[in-house]
Amino acid sequence: MSSGFTLWFTGLSGAGKTTISSALAPILMERQLRVEVLDGDVIRDNLSTRLGFSKEDRDENVRRIGWLCELLTRNGIATLAAAISPYREARFEVRQRVGAAREGSFVEVFCDAPLDVLKDRDPKGLYKRALAGEIKHFTGVDDPYERPRDPDVHLDTAGTSIEHCVGQVLAALEERDLIPKT
Ligand code: ADP
Repeated sequence: MSSGFTLWFTGLSGAGKTTISSALAPILMERQLRVEVLDGDVIRDNLSTRLGFSKEDRDENVRRIGWLCELLTRNGIATLAAAISPYREARFEVRQRVGAAREGSFVEVFCDAPLDVLKDRDPKGLYKRALAGEIKHFTGVDDPYERPRDPDVHLDTAGTSIEHCVGQVLAALEERDLIPKT
């Protein structure tokens, strides 16, 4: 059995967390890894149904996803978690927990794109609604996002292609000996 790890995608809404993690999943499967994707939206529809968007609830949501990551990582699964996870402290807690299961197995991937680009992209029309005041507590509009200070992988999802970003993550996993080099 290969050893598990957690790829933790953080970033603003529309920054590419779902896109990059779902592009990576089949590539990792092809490399014979057992893979699970924990997408923030899916988690909120299932595990975190009653949670809202206060700091407390966001942190609780991250803690729940982190706990799942810990279990899966411990059991040899390549776990891809995609959640805005706006607060540094909560992300750090997950790093500690997953890292305790296996040293170096937590890899924070920062999907970084300027707000202006995201407002233009806005595939789901969420920024438009948030800016119009129809959605409250929207990260980057009227709710904070604490940028990672020292992410393991820093993706420029506005300036580089999806393929390039996927390649960057794969390279980081190879560098850390979390997946075999091709
Ligand atoms: P998030 O999961 O962070 O909310 P999504 O993955 O749902 O973001 O949306 C990102 C959008 O940006 C998609 O429409 C995607 O096609 C587009 N996009 C353009 N370039 C990139 C890139 N380099 N990385 C990720 N997404 C990109």
